[in-house]
Formats: sequence, C-alpha cells, structure tokens
Amino acid sequence: MAVASNVRDELAGSQWDVVVAGLGPVGVTLCSLLGKYGLRTLGIDRERSIYTLPRAGHVDHTVLRTLEEIGCLDEVLAEMIPNRGMELLGGGGEVLARIPVAPRTPSGLPASMHFHQPVLERLLRENAERIAGITLRNSVRLVSFEPAGDLERIVLEHEEQSFEVRSRFLVGCDGASSVTRNHAGLGFRDYGFAESWVVIDLILTQFPDTLRRDTTFVADPKRPHAMIEMPGMRYRFEFMVLPGETPESVTNEAAVHRLISGWLQPHHIRKIERAIVYTFRGAQAESWRKGNVAVAGDAAHLTPPFLGQGLCSGVRDAANLAWKIAFFLSGRLPSGILETYGSERGPHIDNVITTSIEIARNLCMLDESLAQTRDRAMLESGLPEEARIRFKLGELRTGPLVMPSGGMYMISPQTGEGPLDRLIGGNFMILARSTEALGSEAALAWWQALGANVRLTGSLPACAAVLDAWLQKRGGDVAVIRPDRYVLGCEKSLDAITAYVEAGMR
Ligand SMILES: Cc1cc2nc3c(=O)[nH]c(=O)nc-3n(C[C@H](O)[C@H](O)[C@H](O)COP(=O)(O)OP(=O)(O)OC[C@H]3O[C@@H](n4cnc5c(N)ncnc54)[C@H](O)[C@@H]3O)c2cc1C
Repeated sequence: MAVASNVRDELAGSQWDVVVAGLGPVGVTLCSLLGKYGLRTLGIDRERSIYTLPRAGHVDHTVLRTLEEIGCLDEVLAEMIPNRGMELLGGGGEVLARIPVAPRTPSGLPASMHFHQPVLERLLRENAERIAGITLRNSVRLVSFEPAGDLERIVLEHEEQSFEVRSRFLVGCDGASSVTRNHAGLGFRDYGFAESWVVIDLILTQFPDTLRRDTTFVADPKRPHAMIEMPGMRYRFEFMVLPGETPESVTNEAAVHRLISGWLQPHHIRKIERAIVYTFRGAQAESWRKGNVAVAGDAAHLTPPFLGQGLCSGVRDAANLAWKIAFFLSGRLPSGILETYGSERGPHIDNVITTSIEIARNLCMLDESLAQTRDRAMLESGLPEEARIRFKLGELRTGPLVMPSGGMYMISPQTGEGPLDRLIGGNFMILARSTEALGSEAALAWWQALGANVRLTGSLPACAAVLDAWLQKRGGDVAVIRPDRYVLGCEKSLDAITAYVEAGMR
C-alpha cells in the first residue's frame, strides 16, 4: 500500500470511533469487522509494509468463518492447502499418537488448512482496504495514550515526528511486546515455559519421496523436530535448539543443510527463505481491557505453536471483541458487555496455552530414559493412536452473555439464502420453532431494538429439519445466536433468555 508522504498532516487532530494499533493478521481482521459495523476505524502499523516472512502456517475453521464474514474467504482458500493430519513419532519412527483432521465442522468449512502467512496478510489487507470507513496507514507508531473525557487521546509517531489523534476506543493488536498492554498496565502472566527452536522455511524444486506430506512431530530426544508442508512448493522444518547451541550455530547455511540432510539434498532446494530461532512461550494478559482500551492477538496471549493456535486465537479475539465494541459505541448495550471480552476469551485461551505447553513439554524431552518412559506410556496406554493426544477447542464458559445451555458454535447449514452465517451477518439471530417460543411481546421487542434477525425455522425450508433437530437435541424451542456465531442460549421460551441477558447486563 502506498504510504502518504503527509501521513502526519492527514491524521493529526483526527477523531475516530476505533484506533487499532498493529496491522498484523489480527489487527487487520479486527479493522475489517469494525468497518463492517460502520465504525470509522483507523489502523496503524509501525512497519513500512506487511511482514514478508511466514510465522503461522495453520488455521482452523473458526478463522475461515471470520474470513467469510469479512468477505475474503474464497480468495484466501484458493491460496491454501488442506492439512492432512498430524502424527507424533518416537525417535525410532514409531507412531506415538495421531490427530486426524475432523471430517466435519459446525460451519461446514474445512477443519484445518495450511497457508503462507505473507499471502494471507496481503489478501486480508487488500480486502480491508475495500471496506468503507477504514483507513490503514503504515510507518505510524503508537507511542502513548490517556483518557480525555469520553475519548482516548492517542499519541502517534510518523518519521520521528509525533502527533495526536482522538478515538472512542483503542485496541492494541501490537504483538508480543505490546505498547498498548504495557502502557495500560494490563500485566502479562507467564506460564513458565520457554524453549528455543530454529524454524527453517524452504522453497523446493521438487518433493522427494523422503518428505512427509502430513504434519509430523518427532519426539526424538537426540533432537526433537517437526515437518510441515506449506502451499507453493514450500516446506517448513522446526528443530529444537539444544543446550550449548547458539542461534548463529543453527541458522547459518551449512547448519541448515546439515539439519535437513536426512530428507533433502541441496538440489531439492530452490531457496532457503529464512532460518530463525524463536523462543516459544506461554503468556496471557492479566486484564484484557481497561476503560476503552483493550488488547487482542499476541498482545493478549502467547502460546507455543505446536497446536497452530496463536493466530487462530487472535482472530477469535477479534470476532469476540468487534461486535461488543459496536454494540457499546452505538449505545445498544451497556459497558458491561465489554467486561465479557476478557472473561470469555481468558479461560478459552488458557485451555489452548496449557494444552500446547503439555504437548511441548512432552515433545521437548531430551533425557533418553524419560523419553523411553513417555513412549512406553503412550504405546501401552491401550488407547487408539487417535485418542492419545486430546485437544478440543473449548466452548465459551457460562457468563452474562452465555447461558448454561449455550457456549457452543452454531451450525451454519445452507438456508437457500446462503449459509446461515450470512443471515446472521453482524447481528444477533433468534431461531424459533414456533411463535409461542418467541415468548412475550416485550421479550421480542427487546431483541428487535438490538436489531436481531428473528426467524422461524419453518421460514427456512431448505434447512428447517436440520435446525429443528439441532434445537430438539438441546431441549430447546428457541435459540439466540450471537454475532460471533456462538450460541447465547437455547431454551423453551425467548423470555428465559431475555431475562438472563437483562440481569447479566444490569
Ligand atoms: C514459528 C511460528 C509458528 C507459528 N505457527 C502458527 C500456526 O500454525 N497457527 C497459528 O494460529 N499461529 C501460529 N503462530 C502464531 C502466530 O504467528 C501469531 O499468533 C500471529 O502472527 C499474531 O498475530 P498478531 O496480529 O496478534 O501480531 P503480529 O503478527 O505480531 O502483529 C503485530 C503488529 O503490530 C505492529 N506493532 C508493534 N508495535 C507497534 C506500535 N507501537 N505501533 C504500531 N504498530 C506496532 C507490528 O509491526 C506488527 O505488524 C506461530 C508463530 C511462530 C513464531
């Protein structure tokens, strides 16, 4: 994107609904969602352009669902390849565990896809630029902020000159060392795990038979490692950095060739895109919001990448936060709605971080006898390979906007008017089996004032049977689906759901 030479003149003194600091994948996705709500949104990034090297390589169906909402699913999917599943091998090559790709997802979208992050970021960026009300600028750094009445007074910097803008809300998507998180004093709780791995990204001339095409983790105590196929003749190796090794000693060209020599010879490699050492950690913000300032993505949490969930979780943050900001700023719901951002996202990501660390601790075992004990425990567990590592993306915990009967992702069957997700759009949706289930006039009016889309399942003949069966299975006749596609509650009458939300938002 061209950077206006007079960015400072253009932005100084301007006022926004939301300023998003940091235009990595999470920041751009959040800008797009906010723009869809008609909010005047300024997105800034301190770098001159998109980061050109890949980090994340995997997304799940929850991310694809959000991409569909912001309007770039098809173009992104065209650049992805399906994940063929994951195997964990012992040092001798025996299969310790397997995570197959789920054959079905609630939305019907693919469960797990591999991608090249710079391509994803470019497509996200191009899509965001097409959404009205969004202004995205590079080479602009967030410096500080403070409340000024109902607004945040935000100090930015462009080419070493600072200037101010004002905004009703500020979200820091500014990565692991987030200025937003630090300046707001939100805290960062470390989970006490840190291991360094060298990540090697290659572009190949061909795929020799020696290369595996599924995602493979090898828990070899001599050197734990991982192999992942990426789109566009790309392939990634990850090797644990052993005690006594320096980053330089595992990233120089000779070291890279030595590390991968068991699978690839120099003529198989068109280019070593990069070899870099990352220290994988687990951390979570102690608070996710203070007043009208919040954090999302790596600014709010870090997770070892062995489940491929860091970016995915960041996109789920954006999906959780965008509608809450929109409903709060438009005065349709009180500030209590913002409280639910951290209280919902915190426990959800905690499950992802702790499971990732558990896998990482098992994988990173360098002691031969401990590794043998681990292997035996898995092989002799009596469990099928598919049941030896368990990871299930959690539901949302019960809270003011999640009833005990809710918290799961809604299904998105084809309705004849597109997938159900498209009918939900950015609003609440009420699905009822009968007019009786819609309860009192007051309850219906309450939701209609919020702009909820109210439908009887019978008015969607293409999927009425599927929706009725879904409601029946949960013992309800009516469900409220939130704008982020999570089910708020599924009850016999809308009155019960309305009373629950009204009490929680008071
Ligand atoms: C090796 C590796 C493999 C991974 N694999 C996966 C995977 O398979 N799947 C997955 O889901 N996740 C994975 N992750 C995690 C994933 O890469 C990150 O979670 C994701 O990129 C975070 O996105 P983000 O937008 O929150 O932050 P970032 O991508 O870090 O973006 C932050 C942006 O903020 C900008 N910024 C920072 N400070 C300021 C400031 N003061 N002012 C303005 N701008 C600022 C930066 O320039 C940057 O553009 C992996 C990570 C690594 C390292």
